[in-house]
Amino acid sequence: MHVDKFEDAIMNCRFCFMCRHLSAVGNVRFTEVDTPRVRAAMIYGLRTGTNSFDDGDFVDALYRQDLSACCRRHCVNHFDENGLALAVRADVVEAGKAPEAVKRLAAKFARSASWKIEGGAGGVAWFLDETTASDKASVAAAKKLFAAAKVSPAVITGGSIGKALKVLGYLPEAKAAAEKFAAFLAEKGVKTLVVSNPAAVNALKQDYPGLGVKLPCEVKSLAGFVVRSKVKFARAAGEVYALADDFIRNYQECKCHENLLAAVKAVNRPFGTNDEETYNCGEGAVVLDRLNPGLVKSLAEYVAARADDPKKDRIIVGSVYTKRALVKYGKLNAATIEELAASCL
Ligand code: SF4
Repeated sequence: MHVDKFEDAIMNCRFCFMCRHLSAVGNVRFTEVDTPRVRAAMIYGLRTGTNSFDDGDFVDALYRQDLSACCRRHCVNHFDENGLALAVRADVVEAGKAPEAVKRLAAKFARSASWKIEGGAGGVAWFLDETTASDKASVAAAKKLFAAAKVSPAVITGGSIGKALKVLGYLPEAKAAAEKFAAFLAEKGVKTLVVSNPAAVNALKQDYPGLGVKLPCEVKSLAGFVVRSKVKFARAAGEVYALADDFIRNYQECKCHENLLAAVKAVNRPFGTNDEETYNCGEGAVVLDRLNPGLVKSLAEYVAARADDPKKDRIIVGSVYTKRALVKYGKLNAATIEELAASCL
């Protein structure tokens, strides 16, 4: 089973409650089942015969996780509870026990894996994923930033590059989409791929190597590309509440967002009661808003309850996924980091 690769997490997390306060879903449902300890105990039960994927409540809990990786990041031993959560989903799928809603979503993503490329020259392309493309303000901000960097990228649009499929546990389908996207980039001669969505950045930088898929180009987050291009900003951003992104901070330990905030002279105020937990409403789970919108609403309301002045505070986030949840359900004044940067040009 895929979970066998996460022996440390299974054997240690099942007796540990140290990171329970960083489980976003546990914090809004007030349920032990939504903590790494009980999830590991339930997975251990697969070995002892006290649990099975025939238990729908167990499988639902596995697909309810926010996958922020906060618990792994702050675990003193860095036991990979997040990797375990992803692995057990792959085992659920291989056992043919995925919930119907998950099956339907995965089939849709697998069908969508095709792309087109328009414009551009010089080997630089911008991957405008479907989530980012749904937010006009973020798209406009990205265009302004490219113009300020004096780069006219080719624009790649289209469907799944495999991230959602991997997160849902469909590894062969994720690999097929990844191989297809890598071949597409090679055929189009892309040398530098600039990516807005942190989930897509993470897919390309971490998932693809893990799936054995080699890319023909370098990958930069848009924030990292703007900083590297030494874009000049005319105005300072002022006071903001910048929420650390799940993929950029917890998965990749990348400083690109911090560097862009520094470049626009943002004065970042502390948000909430600590800087360890996630405020991204399930961004790490990529499609939690489609599988469980009620839960994402609860997560956004939890964040909103921690804002000093919900209507006025400038909340800066790393992804359109999080912005959408915080604006729609939390009624917060949220914008992406690219929007903030573009407003400072
Ligand atoms: S990830 Fe670390 S802190 Fe969290 S339950 Fe596992 S062992 Fe404990």
